[in-house]
Amino acid sequence: MMLMISELQEKPLAVWQGQERYNNELVDCLTIIFKSAGCSWSKCRMCSYRHERYSVKQSSETLLGHLRAQLAWVLSRIKPETYRMVKIFTSGSFFDHDEIPVEFLSDVASSLKGKLVIAETRPEFIQTNVIKSFIELLDDGSWKTPLYCAIGLETTNDSIRKKSIHKGFTFQDFLKAAENAHSAGAGVKAYLLFKPLFLTESEAVADMKTSIRETAVYADMISMNPCTVQRNTELEYYWKRGAYRPPYLWSVLSILEDAPVHVTCDPLGGGQKRGPHNCGVCDYELVRGIRDYSLNADKELITTLLHTRCDCKQEWEYVLSSEKSYCMPLTR
Ligand code: SF4
Ligand SMILES: [Zn+2]
Repeated sequence: MMLMISELQEKPLAVWQGQERYNNELVDCLTIIFKSAGCSWSKCRMCSYRHERYSVKQSSETLLGHLRAQLAWVLSRIKPETYRMVKIFTSGSFFDHDEIPVEFLSDVASSLKGKLVIAETRPEFIQTNVIKSFIELLDDGSWKTPLYCAIGLETTNDSIRKKSIHKGFTFQDFLKAAENAHSAGAGVKAYLLFKPLFLTESEAVADMKTSIRETAVYADMISMNPCTVQRNTELEYYWKRGAYRPPYLWSVLSILEDAPVHVTCDPLGGGQKRGPHNCGVCDYELVRGIRDYSLNADKELITTLLHTRCDCKQEWEYVLSSEKSYCMPLTR
């Protein structure tokens, strides 16, 4: 791979190593967030990732050069024997050819041959032929399912996805994408968003409990993201005016306890005012417990945490029973 001098400076937005639970075992995992041409939808109310993109309109050759430099940066620094799984994010969709040139998909698949890859994408970019070609280069027989397409479904409720998130696709679109992925030999991971805009705490909890049950029929893995207030988003606009509160950690625990399948959850910004939080006293222990649960799937841990005593629990129960639905006028 030949790189220009200027491209040697290019590196991914973030790279880190950790562990993930997969098929009842812990697997060493490398996570890469590639800087790309950016999300072609770019309209979700809570998302600031879409701002992370190359700022000028570049030719696809230039973009390809930048992406290849980012991949070379990773491969030269992280030994392949230190990870078996790779999670790939971009500032949008990995399989969107306007965002990631198709040649780069081949580079990634060949470079990561034998690894288990989980790549995030919107459903409209899950085309059977694209996924099949990727798997052909990636697969060396090490994994029964070498690729998982990760989709930000957010909720199975079309009105919430439309009005509270402005996601731009339907549950039917997700089902079609899941079918395409499965028929190409890939698995499906669904990301759900707990408590987007305009929902009370109890409406948001009910939405997640239903969404987990309905998603589990079609997705092989489910991860729930409690909403955080990112900068320069519509969500932040409402939050600054007191019209949004991130979810309680008690709610996160009650959803995980109720879930009929293992749902992973990494409460980003947990315990902080922009992230899922309780009162400040009990947060640290609960966030740590939720992270532990993602790895060990020990449901008793969740039940124990949910029965922890703290003064803020009464407040949470009061909010669940007394918060009123967002008042949308029916006419203009
Ligand atoms: S959440 Fe995903 S689809 Fe929505 S704007 Fe952000 S990157 Fe694009
Ligand atoms: Zn508390």
